[in-house]
Amino acid sequence: MVEARTRPAWAEVDLDAVAQNVALLARRVAPAALCAVVKADAYGHGAAPVARTAIESGAAWLAVAVVDEGLELREHGIAAPVLVLSEVMPDAAEVLVRGGLTATVTTRAGIDALAAAARRAGTRAHVHVKVDTGMHRVGATPEEAAPLIDAAEAEPALRVEGVWTHLAVADATTEEDRAFTSLQLERFDKVVAALRARPPLLHAANTAGAVAWPAARYDMVRCGIGLYGYAPSRAIADGSAGADVASFVGSLRPALTLKARVSEVRELDAGERPSYGRRRALPERGVVATVPIGYADGVPRRLFDAGCPVLISGRRRPLAGVVTMDQLLVDCGPGARVARGDEVVLIGRQGTEEITAQEWAERLGTITYEVLCGIGPRVPRVHAGRGVR
Ligand SMILES: *Cc1c(COP(=O)(O)O)cnc(C)c1O
Repeated sequence: MVEARTRPAWAEVDLDAVAQNVALLARRVAPAALCAVVKADAYGHGAAPVARTAIESGAAWLAVAVVDEGLELREHGIAAPVLVLSEVMPDAAEVLVRGGLTATVTTRAGIDALAAAARRAGTRAHVHVKVDTGMHRVGATPEEAAPLIDAAEAEPALRVEGVWTHLAVADATTEEDRAFTSLQLERFDKVVAALRARPPLLHAANTAGAVAWPAARYDMVRCGIGLYGYAPSRAIADGSAGADVASFVGSLRPALTLKARVSEVRELDAGERPSYGRRRALPERGVVATVPIGYADGVPRRLFDAGCPVLISGRRRPLAGVVTMDQLLVDCGPGARVARGDEVVLIGRQGTEEITAQEWAERLGTITYEVLCGIGPRVPRVHAGRGVR
């Protein structure tokens, strides 16, 4: 039994599941390389243990959103190449270079700042140029891209390793969305065709692109959500993107379980209304359990209105009132044999029952990504599997 020492609420992360998901993804996209996206603390799973597991299980690269995330990996002794997914502020270029991270550049100013930083550090900076083919978030326009890449190639302090783009709707399967992904890939191909030299790594696909769009794999794919065992969208999971795609994502295994222990138990009369706002009356006299995890930990207050249960004694039990900052209340029903210290599963399996991050996402009207990233830093991460280090 693994759990946190000082607080009876924790997220258990099964590194064997991560390792298996990485191996499955790597095999599916080969000969393209796999870049494990471990931004946002590996979608809440713990960046360093996940990154180490990913590299040991077949990923060649890591990617992060911000420089500090890359430095954290280096501080943990992780030596694999780490791509920072956006162009950084000029002031951050030198920290990036000295950290041995690989930069994304999208502008001439970005190239100049990076080259200057590399010269000050007495090294060559590794760069990937990002092209905006339709996501319209980050990147040079397809027209700007070729001259920009040529300019970076001409800069002795830089080594252009990659050119990449990002797909906006690879997880969607309507005719219009599929046409848009094709258009993005065509625009990307056109940019690449106009280059004087083809850099070693072209990449475009997120998890959805990697599993459902073979033409988007190029030399490398950047997978996040799949590493953690979830499909990027319902359309990818339900067969709309093909039975083979659905069966593949169905073989991925969710790695995170969110757990806590009952901290208090009380028996209340029918009609009592626990928690702030006194929103719900107990239908019958019954047992109400207090669980020490709340919205400050990433258990959304809306979970009550969304009707999302938790698992206690292997059964789904409704919340007895709104989630508070640090605690929530569970209606365990009449005569329930629930005691202080009993295990509560908010996300994961208990006995034969399972509540997934996907179920939370659907009930809350969001996506699994937001649910997983929302689990706060106050929740200890406990890593299991792979002989835990
Ligand atoms: C987050 C991110 C990814 C990973 O996306 P998933 O859908 O989680 O696989 C890939 N590329 C970029 C640029 C990203 O920002």
